[in-house]
Amino acid sequence: MGLKIVGLEMSTIRNEMERFFQKTNMVSTYKPMFLKALLDLGDFKENEGSQWVKDDGKNLEVDLNFVAVRFIYYCHPLYFKFKLKQQFGIMTVLSYKIFEEFDVFNAKNKVSKVEFSKDKYKDARDRLIKDGIDKTVFKLLLKDCNIYTRTKKYTFKISKENVSYLKEHKNQLTKALNHELSLFLGRFNNSPDIPGKLEEIKKRPSLNKEDSLENIRLAKNRCFYCDEKGTEFAQDHFIPWNYVYTTEKYNMVPACTSCNSSKHDKLATHQFLDKIIQRNKKLQLSLAYSKSFMKSQWENCRINYHGEDESLWKNA
Ligand SMILES: [Zn+2]
Repeated sequence: MGLKIVGLEMSTIRNEMERFFQKTNMVSTYKPMFLKALLDLGDFKENEGSQWVKDDGKNLEVDLNFVAVRFIYYCHPLYFKFKLKQQFGIMTVLSYKIFEEFDVFNAKNKVSKVEFSKDKYKDARDRLIKDGIDKTVFKLLLKDCNIYTRTKKYTFKISKENVSYLKEHKNQLTKALNHELSLFLGRFNNSPDIPGKLEEIKKRPSLNKEDSLENIRLAKNRCFYCDEKGTEFAQDHFIPWNYVYTTEKYNMVPACTSCNSSKHDKLATHQFLDKIIQRNKKLQLSLAYSKSFMKSQWENCRINYHGEDESLWKNA
């Protein structure tokens, strides 16, 4: 008997999730982001917002601060690191706006959910809750995915059965929600690997030793940018890593420490594009990269990532 009831409730949330994914009229990232935040309810760690979750035995009562922390956490790299645009909707605009409005945010902050749960982000969270989450998603989401009940002003209740469903299917649901987010962001951003950029951790892989050595040999032991002769070089992503999000030989050049650190995540001027196109003609590549591919990568990066009005990097 007990099992049957649980089964029924499970199928209800499953139906609600299916109903959500069948809707395709997304006008912003806020709905999938809200659901992504709820996926954390099953197994969040201490200090990641436990003060905003109360367990009454049957339900969790959740303060929207718990959700706001995650909105900020997910949007922070999209805004600062990957520079992905979000065009429509008050919420999406606001979730970026707060990064400019509140000087507690910093592009280079080491960011974690614990960090964004701290008091110093309270004002930013409050603004996001009041003018963003509450107005644009909190009530509206229930039309597409009825899995919680709003209780007090900025609080909702969700059954523990629903939470355990979310926990059990966290991986698949995260992938599915990221897919929705990628489709939406792909409408405004000509940027490679948006799904990868939505994942929480991706290590920057290094080029293998053999390929690095070939790159250095072809550069005749000189820095690709300043021509300085050397013995040790950094492997620089010619088109910045945060844009291409892959490490492939065609895009890797040897750089001296000084050029490497000054270039950082900027895009180099056109003269270096011509130079790398010439260099790549001599490489043994497992995949062919045409001149037009390099040109379009560079140009897309300039417009979508570097900034059309920003001056390009060149070595001093
Ligand atoms: Zn150099």
